[in-house]
Amino acid sequence: MLVQPHLFIPGPTNIPEAVRMAMNLPMEDMRSPEFPKFTLPVFEDLKKVFKMKDGRVFIYPSSGTGAWESAITNTLAVGDKVLMSRFGQFSLLWVDMAERMGLKVVLCDEEWGTGVPLEKYADILAKDTAHEIKAVFATHNETATGVSSDIAGVRKALDAAKHPALLMVDGVSSVGSLDMRMGEWGVDCCVSGSQKGFMLPTGLGILAVSQKALDANKSLNGRMNRCFFSFEDMIKTNDLGYFPYTPATQLIRGLRTSLDLIQAEGIENIFTRHHRLASGVRAAIDAWGLKLVAKEPKWHSDTVSAIYVPEGVDAVQVLKTAFYRYNTSLGTGLNKLNGRVFRIGHLGALDEVMLGGALFAVEMALKDCGAAIKMGSGTGAAAEYFSKTSTRSATSRDAAHGLKAA
Ligand SMILES: *Cc1c(COP(=O)(O)O)cnc(C)c1O
Repeated sequence: MLVQPHLFIPGPTNIPEAVRMAMNLPMEDMRSPEFPKFTLPVFEDLKKVFKMKDGRVFIYPSSGTGAWESAITNTLAVGDKVLMSRFGQFSLLWVDMAERMGLKVVLCDEEWGTGVPLEKYADILAKDTAHEIKAVFATHNETATGVSSDIAGVRKALDAAKHPALLMVDGVSSVGSLDMRMGEWGVDCCVSGSQKGFMLPTGLGILAVSQKALDANKSLNGRMNRCFFSFEDMIKTNDLGYFPYTPATQLIRGLRTSLDLIQAEGIENIFTRHHRLASGVRAAIDAWGLKLVAKEPKWHSDTVSAIYVPEGVDAVQVLKTAFYRYNTSLGTGLNKLNGRVFRIGHLGALDEVMLGGALFAVEMALKDCGAAIKMGSGTGAAAEYFSKTSTRSATSRDAAHGLKAA
């Protein structure tokens, strides 16, 4: 293949060359006396990405969905009441899992394009004076609709009601790209995975848990059955730098390098970069005269944009055209958005020039599929925005980029 296919789906994301090379190594002995020297610092450095003040991080050989299941089975009991909201395919699937694991879900069904309903949460929590609700769930970044929610606001609702429920957050498409302050926001379980902000292949379920969640795990009566995801088994071996079963050593080697890259760029700089890239994409969408699924600016996601195609245009056709004619993968419209929406993933290892390529492909594919798009309108608006807001100088290339091997 002469040219790599261009990947702009919201996970898996593009893998930096340094990360890919770090995973290209012979198999190693995961019980060697040297292994903990490698693993223990990985656990510590992950805590910084989640901005934890206590607790620990578990790394499972699974996808993010496994970390969802781990959070539930380790901290809750069958029949427990939990508060959840549903406003896109991922929040919908987490609700489905909770119900199938035997939790009683108090559900806020929200319009797709909106996010976690803070006022409703505050109201429900204030009325729950008997503290029957054991956990409150929030999807930080709904990848299906490109909606980010206010996790600090959920913490405020809990505190205002003096409610002791655990706070469970899905950060699969936010952690490492959008600010996640577990310590400050009192998040008890934060779910993530390797193939989004961590810029790795799929295969690691990463779950960060607070001390409060670990205590809940210890004192739990009527605990759920668990084995593969058991905190207890993990802790026993993790404390020594090992795992209860074979870890995905190559992926963790890659994670080491991606953590080095994150540290080298600086996590706050990463958030700024994502905001700037997303703003450029939104400038293009405006210029095309298209609408985001996210209903208001407060819901705008800096990691993924879900975009309605114009009336009379089939989004599936746009995706196929981008794929076959322009060698570019965009995200599909999930569930009820299928056919009406396409998504641009703008998270992980990318810069404005890569993203410019994606916008170029979108513009052509839209036009090819019959949209009344003026060539150069969206790409021009993004270029205008990127050139105006660039902070790089001719000599600051690597430092500002952060994508060089640390
Ligand atoms: C990708 C994603 C998941 C699912 O993760 P898998 O790794 O596919 O299991 C869950 N929640 C959100 C918000 C996601 O973006």
